[in-house]
Amino acid sequence: MAAGTAIGASAVGLELFSPGLSATAAGTYLRPCGDVRISSSWQGHKNRNPPSSEPGTDYAVITGTQIRAAANGVVVDRKDSTTTATGRYLALRADDGNYIRYLHLQSSTVPLGARVTRGQVIAYSGASGFGTDTGYGPHVHVSLWIGGTPLQQGFTNSVDFESYVDPGPYPPPPEDPVPLHKSTKYTWNAAIPEGAWAKIPLGADSNWLAESSATIKETGDLTIYLTATGVTRGFQIRVLAQSLNTTGAVVNTSPQPVVEVPASASTAANPLTYGEYALPYFLSGPLRLYAQIRALNPGIRVQQVVVKKNYWQS
Ligand SMILES: [Zn+2]
Repeated sequence: MAAGTAIGASAVGLELFSPGLSATAAGTYLRPCGDVRISSSWQGHKNRNPPSSEPGTDYAVITGTQIRAAANGVVVDRKDSTTTATGRYLALRADDGNYIRYLHLQSSTVPLGARVTRGQVIAYSGASGFGTDTGYGPHVHVSLWIGGTPLQQGFTNSVDFESYVDPGPYPPPPEDPVPLHKSTKYTWNAAIPEGAWAKIPLGADSNWLAESSATIKETGDLTIYLTATGVTRGFQIRVLAQSLNTTGAVVNTSPQPVVEVPASASTAANPLTYGEYALPYFLSGPLRLYAQIRALNPGIRVQQVVVKKNYWQS
C-alpha cells in the first residue's frame, strides 16, 4: 500500500492539525535516533502472545538520546507522567495526515500544538512506563497509523514504521529471539478477605511473576488465570512492579491497571468463576512483578492459580 495515503483525514475534524494533507511517498520518514539497533520489530510486537496492544518499532538507545521528528507536522498529544505501559509519550500529526507516537520518553521538548520540522529534536529517549523512569530497558518505541489517530484506527491497527522510513545504507535489523514458555499451576484453596489486596502465590514458595536484575533483562507477556468459588459480586486482580535498590530493598511499588472480574452466571452444577489478567512487560534493572487479588464480597475462595508466560532474557 502506498505510504501516507490520507485515508479518512477529514474525519479528524481538526483543521488546525491538518495543514495541507498531501500523500507522503514511501521511504521518507526519518528514524528517531538514526542508525541504531532495533531491539523489537513491529512484526515482533504482533507475534507476542498475546500480541502487543500498540505494535511499533523499538529502537535500542540509551536514556537521554535525542529523538528527531520523522516528518513536518504538529504535536497533537503529549503525556508527561510515567504512568501506564506507555510512560511519557509524544504524538505527531504529520502533514501527510499520518499519526506517529514516541513512547517511554525521558522528556519532551516541544509543547502541545507546536509545529515541528523533519529532523528537529522533539524529545529525549528514556525507559519510562509502569509509573517509574525504569519500567523498561532504555529504548524508544515508535508507532505509526495511516490517515488518522489511533482512537479512530484502533491502537492495534498501526503499520510498520520501518516500511515508511528512509532506509539509508543500513543493514537489516536482527529478528527477536524465540521466546521461552513457562507454565505453572498451583492449588491455592484459600479464602480471600473482602476489600483488601492479598498477594497471589504462584506456588508453595513462589511469589514473583517475573524478575530482572542489573545484568539480566526480561521481556515477555504473561497471563494469570484464577478459578474461584463463592463469587456473588466479583473480585479484582492487579499486578505490581517493585523496583529494588542494590541491596535488594524495595524502593518503589507501581500498581498496574486493575481488572475486575464479575460473578459469572454460575449454576449449582458449575459454581466456578474464572478470572484472567494479561500483561506485556519489559523489565530492566532490579525489578520484579507480583499479583494481588481483592474480593468484592465475602466468602470467595480461590482454588487454583495458573500462570502462563512467553518470555526471553537478554
Ligand atoms: Zn515496543
